[in-house]
Amino acid sequence: MSSRAAAKTKLTNDSADRPALLLAWYDRHRRRLPWRAAPGELADPYRVWLSEIMLQQTTVKAVGPYFEKFVSRWPDATALGRASLDDVLRMWAGLGYYSRARNLHACAVALFNDHGGVFPDTEDGLRALPGIGPYTAAAIAAIAFDRRTMPVDGNIERVISRLYAVEESLPQAKPRIQQLATTLLGPSRAGDEKSRAGDSAQALMDLGATICTPKKPACSLCPLNDDCAARARGDQETFPRKAPKKSGTLRRGAAFVVTRGGELLVRSRPEKGLLGGMTEVPGSEWIAGQEDRAALAQAPELKGVTRWHRKAGIVTHVFTHFPLELVVYTANVPSRTRAPDGMRWVPVATLDGEALPNVMRKVIAHGLNL
Ligand code: SF4
Repeated sequence: MSSRAAAKTKLTNDSADRPALLLAWYDRHRRRLPWRAAPGELADPYRVWLSEIMLQQTTVKAVGPYFEKFVSRWPDATALGRASLDDVLRMWAGLGYYSRARNLHACAVALFNDHGGVFPDTEDGLRALPGIGPYTAAAIAAIAFDRRTMPVDGNIERVISRLYAVEESLPQAKPRIQQLATTLLGPSRAGDEKSRAGDSAQALMDLGATICTPKKPACSLCPLNDDCAARARGDQETFPRKAPKKSGTLRRGAAFVVTRGGELLVRSRPEKGLLGGMTEVPGSEWIAGQEDRAALAQAPELKGVTRWHRKAGIVTHVFTHFPLELVVYTANVPSRTRAPDGMRWVPVATLDGEALPNVMRKVIAHGLNL
C-alpha cells in the first residue's frame, strides 16, 4: 500500500477526520477561480463579495467575464461606491436578477459613506450592510477573514445531505444541514477563533461542483467516500430531498417593437419591483389569462401607426416566480415621429449599452429578426 493510501485508510477510520480529508483534497484539487486568493493567502473581501452576489442564481462560467469587467472598471468598494447606479446596471445587463445589481450598488455606497470603503470583518458587521444576507455574510467572513463559520450554498447542501442521508426535504432541512456542515470545519488553531474555515467552505463548494454533482456523482474520486451514508445505500442522486415544486401561474402580455429608421422606442421600468429601473420596449401588463385583444389595446399611441404587425410565434421567458409569454407587435414610424411621454428613441446599434434584461433582449431579437 502506498504511503498516501495508508494515510487515507488511517484517516477514514474515523468520521471526525472528515475535515482533514477535505482540506487535503482541496489543497490538491481546488478550482482556480478569478476571485480566489493563492493557496495560503486570504482573499480580498471585495472580490469575494462581488463574486458571491454575482453567483447567486448564475453559473461560474457566466459570471467569469462579468467579474473581470467589474473589477477592471471598479477595482474596490470605494470605486464602486462612487459609480452611478445606471452605470452599474448597464454593466450588469445580461446577468439577470437585477435586484442584485441594485443591492450591490447600495452596499458599495454604504461601505464608501460609512466604512471608508473597508468591509467589516465579522458576520454581524457584514449582515448590517444592504443586500448581504446570512449566506453572503458567512462566505465573506470565512473566505476573506477566516472566521469560523460555514456558508451553505446549493453545492454544500447537496454534499451534506448525501453524506449524512438527510431525509428531511428542503427548505425545512436547512438548519440541520447547516449544523452538519459546520462539523466539517477544520480545527481551530489553539487560542484562536480563526481556522482554515474559508478553505473548508471552498473545499465543500468545489466538491459539490466537480465531484458530488447533481447527476452521476463521481464517488470513486471523493475524499469522503468511505464514510458517505447515501453512497452506502446507493441512492446518492435522490438527495437532497425536495418538496414538490410549485411553478407560478403563466402570465401573458404584449410587447411593442417600434422602429424609426435605425432607432428603437424604449422606456425605463419603474425603480421598484421586477426588473426595477431596467430598459424595456413598451408593453402591456403581464397578467394571468390576459387576452390578446386586451394586451394589444395597451399599445403606445404613436402618430402614423394605424396598424400593428403581429410577429409569428411568441417569446417565452421564465422568471423565478412565474413563466411569461409575450406576443410581439412591430411598427415602423416616420423619421420625425416623437416618442410618447416617458419613452425615448435609442439607436439599435447602441443597444448593448442599455440595461436590457434578458427577456427584452429576446423580444427585440424576435421583433427585429436579429
Ligand atoms: S461519496 Fe459520492 S455522494 Fe457521497 S459525498 Fe462523495 S461524491 Fe457525494
